[in-house]
Amino acid sequence: MELKDLARLRVGSGFDLHPLSRDENRRFVLGGVQVSSHNGPLGHSDADVVCHALADALLGSVGLGGIGDHFLDSDPAWSGANSLDLLTRCHELFRQEGFVLVNGDATVILQEPKLANYRDAMQAKLSTALGAPISVKAKSPEHIGALGASEAVVCLASILAFSNRA
Ligand SMILES: [Zn+2]
Repeated sequence: MELKDLARLRVGSGFDLHPLSRDENRRFVLGGVQVSSHNGPLGHSDADVVCHALADALLGSVGLGGIGDHFLDSDPAWSGANSLDLLTRCHELFRQEGFVLVNGDATVILQEPKLANYRDAMQAKLSTALGAPISVKAKSPEHIGALGASEAVVCLASILAFSNRA
């Protein structure tokens, strides 16, 4: 790669947080994969923090704001929405700007459950949806603060984008 080609690269970052419910019937979906837990996150859609953080990273990398700028959380159309679909739509907006996704990386911060058993499935689902390698890892908040008390789940994400336009 020549120096001028570096100007075709863009970085994007995303963050998302949802409070965790005490409702045993609330599904817990992360990276498009249903996780077995007694306290799923609250939100207008399925509250998938991994998809939301990656969507923000994609949109942010090309200057399109965040997911809330495109999909209003007051819109009944998105009530209970599958966030993998929202992520796919954000990826489409990103591609319309003339960019391709190089890779993505997401970090979930969650006290419990442990996500090791879900990691491969999340990575496979996200990588297939976005057509690029997406890695997912989990960090424990070590019982500190609201995250450590299982009051919320957080995800941070970064992506690298490359412009099709020379
Ligand atoms: Zn969200």
